[in-house]
Amino acid sequence: MDFAISDKMETILGMVNAFMNDEVIPLEGEMLHGEGPELQRMITECQNKVRQMELWAPNHPVEYGGLGLSLLEHGLMSEALGRTPLGHLVFGTQAPDAGNVEILHAHATDQQRERFLAPLVAGEIRSCFSMTEPNMPGSNPVMMETTAVKDGDDYVINGQKWFTSAADGADFAIVMAVTNPEAGPYQQASMILVPTNTPGFNRVRNVSMMGHAGSGYATHGEIMYQSCRVPQDNLLGHEGAGFAIAQERLGPGRIHHCMRWLGIASRSFDMMCDRANERPITADGQALASRQVIQHWVAESRAQIQGARLMTLHAAWMIDRVGAKEARDEIAAIKFTVANTMLDVLDRSIQVHGALGLTDDTILSYWYRHERGARIYDGADEVHKTSLGRRTLSQRAKATSRSE
Ligand SMILES: Cc1cc2nc3c(=O)[nH]c(=O)nc-3n(C[C@H](O)[C@H](O)[C@H](O)COP(=O)(O)OP(=O)(O)OC[C@H]3O[C@@H](n4cnc5c(N)ncnc54)[C@H](O)[C@@H]3O)c2cc1C
Repeated sequence: MDFAISDKMETILGMVNAFMNDEVIPLEGEMLHGEGPELQRMITECQNKVRQMELWAPNHPVEYGGLGLSLLEHGLMSEALGRTPLGHLVFGTQAPDAGNVEILHAHATDQQRERFLAPLVAGEIRSCFSMTEPNMPGSNPVMMETTAVKDGDDYVINGQKWFTSAADGADFAIVMAVTNPEAGPYQQASMILVPTNTPGFNRVRNVSMMGHAGSGYATHGEIMYQSCRVPQDNLLGHEGAGFAIAQERLGPGRIHHCMRWLGIASRSFDMMCDRANERPITADGQALASRQVIQHWVAESRAQIQGARLMTLHAAWMIDRVGAKEARDEIAAIKFTVANTMLDVLDRSIQVHGALGLTDDTILSYWYRHERGARIYDGADEVHKTSLGRRTLSQRAKATSRSE
């Protein structure tokens, strides 16, 4: 089995890592303490440099100005970008835009491509994805209250959504709404493109999460759709295809997330090792690293990261070869494994940093607040474990009945 990375990717990753260390990670202080217009100016400056280096939008289609990397290649890129919360934004491949680009590329009409896809890939506008509802279980999204009813040439959308990430400042939302209530449960909903300046698109608030409501891109919006009227031409794909398209979006999206989480884990790990090596804990200058419990945490973290990384790269390789449907067992396994690996390593790193780990003087506490959601969004741990366990038992039952 060949684990080598191509010369092309070695070159790209070398450029990305150098740029991240020199230009992007230094912006974190401003992000942790400011989040104002100065930060936005610095991000825009970095984005322009990324365009000049011809590394903009690594996973997006070449014909729209992206690099067109395969899922496996983009996974490696995503790991490097994940080392800071600003990495994906600076390189034009942040969620939820990255996933929205993928489904627009696959399903948009020519008119929708021109209006929504091209400026999204170019980074001229932002988008959001509006599916989860406060009063319905997101883990079972066929239970959905939001409706889109035809009236003349339009759809009229009514419903309440929340956790519409990055809605603050987005130019359009991809909204899941029930268009065909008489159809089977998985054929009832459709995806509809809704410009956020449409009357009836009402952003109620940025939901405060772990003490922070945030602003702009790093937010989770609560949205009321109140007789929100858009032309039927804004339907993405065909009516009733909402869940099928959402499923397409989730497979590769989980690779993006998992590799980003591995970037978080690896930076937290490096910080843990550096702190352990540097922090004296005795008067004669012995460092924290001299203690066996710390050595065990380092060893466990290193092994967990390596295992999770190989699983994720293998899942990306499977999707590139056979598609997300055939790779669903691998995708389910990485979703909960990598989320927990990242949170374990992050927690150990905070513990090694002591009180400093809880302050906003390092990036660790930011991640602790913002990344706990990894075990909930894109399928909670329990949902993935149940489906993987059930399929595994049934595969085993079939295999044993054949051999009897
Ligand atoms: C940071 C973050 C960003 C998000 N961004 C978006 C976004 O951009 N757009 C969007 O539409 N949504 C978004 N979401 C919402 C996310 O998709 C939902 O939170 C998720 O689908 C879970 O739904 P729920 O919160 O309604 O939990 P519920 O469905 O109510 O589930 C609650 C808990 O019950 C347990 N559970 C559920 N089902 C089962 C089961 N079958 N077996 C065993 N246990 C079970 C799990 O532990 C689960 O965590 C985001 C969420 C977070 C945290």
